[in-house]
Amino acid sequence: MVQDFLELGLSTQILNAVAELGFEKPTPVQGTVIPKLLAEDGDIVCLAQTGTGKTAAFGLPALEYLDLKNPQTQVLVLCPTRELCRQISQDLENYSKYLEGIRIVSVYGGANISGQMKDLKRGAHIIVATPGRLLDLLKREAADISAITTLILDEADEMLNMGFKDELDAILAQAPEQRRSLLFSATLPKEVEDIARSYMKNPEVVTVGQRNAGSENVEHYYYMVKEDDRYAALKRIADYNPDIYAIVFCKTREQTQKIADALQKDGYDADALHGDLSQAQRDHVMERFKRRALHMLVATDVAARGIDVNDLTHVINYNLPQEIELYTHRSGRTGRADKKGVSVAIINQRERGKIRKIESVIKKQFTRLPVPGAREICERQLAHLIDGINSVEVREDIYSFMPMINELWDGISREELVKKILSYEFNRFFDYYRKAKDLNIAEKEKKGRGRMSDDNESGVTSGDNAGTKERKANDGDPGVCEKGYIWLRLNMGYRNRVIPRDIISIMKACGIGKKAVGKIEIFNEFLYVALKKDVAEYAKSQLNGATYDRRRLTASLLRQG
Ligand code: ADP
Ligand code: MG
Repeated sequence: MVQDFLELGLSTQILNAVAELGFEKPTPVQGTVIPKLLAEDGDIVCLAQTGTGKTAAFGLPALEYLDLKNPQTQVLVLCPTRELCRQISQDLENYSKYLEGIRIVSVYGGANISGQMKDLKRGAHIIVATPGRLLDLLKREAADISAITTLILDEADEMLNMGFKDELDAILAQAPEQRRSLLFSATLPKEVEDIARSYMKNPEVVTVGQRNAGSENVEHYYYMVKEDDRYAALKRIADYNPDIYAIVFCKTREQTQKIADALQKDGYDADALHGDLSQAQRDHVMERFKRRALHMLVATDVAARGIDVNDLTHVINYNLPQEIELYTHRSGRTGRADKKGVSVAIINQRERGKIRKIESVIKKQFTRLPVPGAREICERQLAHLIDGINSVEVREDIYSFMPMINELWDGISREELVKKILSYEFNRFFDYYRKAKDLNIAEKEKKGRGRMSDDNESGVTSGDNAGTKERKANDGDPGVCEKGYIWLRLNMGYRNRVIPRDIISIMKACGIGKKAVGKIEIFNEFLYVALKKDVAEYAKSQLNGATYDRRRLTASLLRQG
């Protein structure tokens, strides 16, 4: 793998353009693929995740091979979506900034075809296309791919997922036999292999990196709420993160639109991106998101595929995807370029198994976070507002108004003024959160599981749907404990982020071994731990008045029946 752009064998014009883009050294995909493409002439299947720099990996060598004096189309790039078409052609334009007279045309569905026909008529050294639209243009003889030397299939797995198989077959059948084919894909399902087998010549398979460079920096969290509280939880997450810049992934187009509408109605800068929108609408949404006029882009996987937005603060899984692959794609959108990324999932009680499945595939642990409560959110928002006020630049323009301002605020104390200003901005939050309930669902010990064991790493048990009861406001009924045991109730709970493992250590600290500890039930404000009857009284006396995590504990025993 080549580590320096200067050693790749690219021409000066291209190197200059790349330098201007701020690319300092080739990404692993680029360092591996570019030298191969320049020095050899075989076909290549390249497997690499999103965000690994594939566009330049195929784009830079493709530009090197162009004969700009020949007006025929020499390179065809096929990709699954309109956004991707536009992005790839924009990237190619950037790389070829110093190549005089180059013409790159992108064609995709959902836009006026006659404009695209005119563009093509003026010549296109490179066509970047979605399969459906290209086929249409080929039928109208508006595009000609009979002279292409390089064919590039980008995001091949997604093109097949989207049902472009027939179109691909038809296009590939028209492409000249004498050509080089390159296929880029995040995954290699059978369908992609079939394409490679039928249309490529002994392709060399290059796999670069297990994951995209960024995903090492991604932290994974989940919030567990009742199904009906999903949307409320999303709002809490947004409110708790005043600088949020996130993609919110939903299952369906309908849901995407519904959530985006609701967010807008509730005063958030959010909008939807999905396949039912017209091209103009999608462009408008993307343009606003990229310039950060939108803070949340609510999108389907397909619509967001390949979209390159940097510096996302969060990827939010409003729903977990059906396929684990997709989760990797989603979370790979954050944590780019050595920045810390955050991927969160909102789940209901029945979805913890999905989290565990994902954990085993991505080889990373999720951490459960409590859904922020009213107090925490209001604190964060106020601090943010005050921060903003502190860092604002005071311009001279205000000076001439000061006499008037002083007069209007005559006689008001500093404290009064601060309260008024902050309340002016803040009352809507107070209003909303005054009535806000706690959305967290208590962790539950699996029924009949008996003792907690120390080897339960996260303290999270698998009994998420076993015996789940409705939680009462703050507290709950722990049910019946094991025979010979008695419930000890402690005044801390999920709110204080205790997990069963903590309780075992607390008990140990007051001299009660694991063997004397039975079932554990954690609610938001309280928890119950079943203790052997002969030690329960002693435990109570040890715990009462003790402090844990700066909290004064009160312990009581629950006599049963
Ligand atoms: P992929 O197609 O693999 O998903 P892209 O080609 O869209 O990835 O690149 C992802 C991002 O990384 C883009 O913003 C691109 O400008 C940037 N990028 C690509 N190559 C480099 C490089 N060598 N150095 C820095 N940034 C790069
Ligand atoms: Mg790409």
